[in-house]
Amino acid sequence: MYYFFFTVSAYLKENYQKQGSNYIKIINLSKQLNKKGRNGRVAAKKKVSLPKLCQQIFIDMQHPLHLFHYCPKCGSSDFGINDFKSKRCGNCGFVYYFNPLAATVGIITDSRGRVLVARRAKEPAKGTLDLPGGFCDSYETAEEGVRREIEEETGLRVKETQYLFSIPNRYVYSGMELHTMDLFFRCTVEEGHTTAADDVAELQWIAIEDLRSEDFGLHSISKGIEMLKAAAKAQKANG
Ligand SMILES: [Zn+2]
Repeated sequence: MYYFFFTVSAYLKENYQKQGSNYIKIINLSKQLNKKGRNGRVAAKKKVSLPKLCQQIFIDMQHPLHLFHYCPKCGSSDFGINDFKSKRCGNCGFVYYFNPLAATVGIITDSRGRVLVARRAKEPAKGTLDLPGGFCDSYETAEEGVRREIEEETGLRVKETQYLFSIPNRYVYSGMELHTMDLFFRCTVEEGHTTAADDVAELQWIAIEDLRSEDFGLHSISKGIEMLKAAAKAQKANG
């Protein structure tokens, strides 16, 4: 046990020396991950994988379900960390897992090779550039989701969708950090006028070589833009 804390502490001190408050949070989290023994001493009853633990605490600093204080089934306050992605009720045994939410991103290009870019009307990253898309609804396919979002946000009707790649993202909504799995689709649309609506403030067509990934406020979209630009560059180089 001491070895465990020593290893975690040494690793954290080395990597996070400047982030004092986060360091305390991390130590508290690592303590919570192990149940308290009879004498109040922290006993490693459950094996915790150190790389996994570090991976989680270094990325998130806080457990993804830290806002959930009570068991949603029985209301008990004995709702503790089960592992890095779940909480378990000590009273009724209910386990709640935190998994990424599916979201879609539509890449629409016109006959001149320009990409349809949106400006975000709402937080997070309000005012920054974005691509049309959004969260999938229950019972719809990702293809249906991307069609619906494009229609809602741009007024354009989607003819065809082609899955390209996925990038995980984190998205703060209503004070809670949601984790998403953003699925990128190349979309062919019917001819028509674009109308910015829903959570889009304005729409514009921008040549792919003029897109700047740093203008896109969401991490996954920014990364996706970099990938699109790299693909377009490679295609151009290959003639
Ligand atoms: Zn319960």
